[in-house]
Amino acid sequence: MAGRKPGVIALFDVDGTLTAPRKVVTPEMLEFLHKLQEVVTVGVVGGSDLVKISEQLGKTVITDYDYVFSENGLVAHKNGELIGSQSLKQFLGEDKLKEFINFTLHYIADLDIPIKRGTFIEFRSGMLNVSPIGRNCSQEERDEFEKYDKVHNIRPKMVSVLREKFAHLSLAFSIGGQISFDVFPQGWDKTYCLRYLEGFEEIHFFGDKTYKGGNDHEIYESERTVGHTVKSPEDTAAQCTALFLTKQAGVE
Ligand SMILES: [Mg+2]
Repeated sequence: MAGRKPGVIALFDVDGTLTAPRKVVTPEMLEFLHKLQEVVTVGVVGGSDLVKISEQLGKTVITDYDYVFSENGLVAHKNGELIGSQSLKQFLGEDKLKEFINFTLHYIADLDIPIKRGTFIEFRSGMLNVSPIGRNCSQEERDEFEKYDKVHNIRPKMVSVLREKFAHLSLAFSIGGQISFDVFPQGWDKTYCLRYLEGFEEIHFFGDKTYKGGNDHEIYESERTVGHTVKSPEDTAAQCTALFLTKQAGVE
């Protein structure tokens, strides 16, 4: 890799940036990334776990790229080797986790809403997903809850209570979808992976959801990165070509 620019990394979001939304990467994009790797270091950062990212980018993903960050970097691989892993359980510890879960379940138990089903808290490796109605409701029940929530603000009220009660845990809350919200430590967005890239002077980040509230927003805005908004995988390739693969970009 004699032609590689030192200190420069091209870092890509996965879904919507390297692949069409929820689709598998195209052979053209793989070939492009391979070419790009001859001139700069290449990393990928996705919100999904490694299994899901492998389904989209291929089974050999961790050895295909210099850096692969799954779950926003809570799981980090460099040249195929695991260089870091973090989870909610490790980070908070069982006592704080239990305190939070107990309080949340009590709150839901006391909540008077038209119907309740099951799975009120889903425990994921990097977050808790909390649903006042319960995740295993039907699609129709979901739609009904969403309408009810818009009028009665069940989720916003619950989030403000939890935010105040657990201020000492520095948690972030994100209301998304129809029936639930996510709870995770502050800073566990895509900027989490930047701790592994200390040695780079220029970090070019490419993502499709760079707007406020989008899952690429924080890393796009970060002082540590040069952010690029892309519309599709084709746009990603076009912008990268202009930046790194043309004579004007200073590549021999
Ligand atoms: Mg995306």
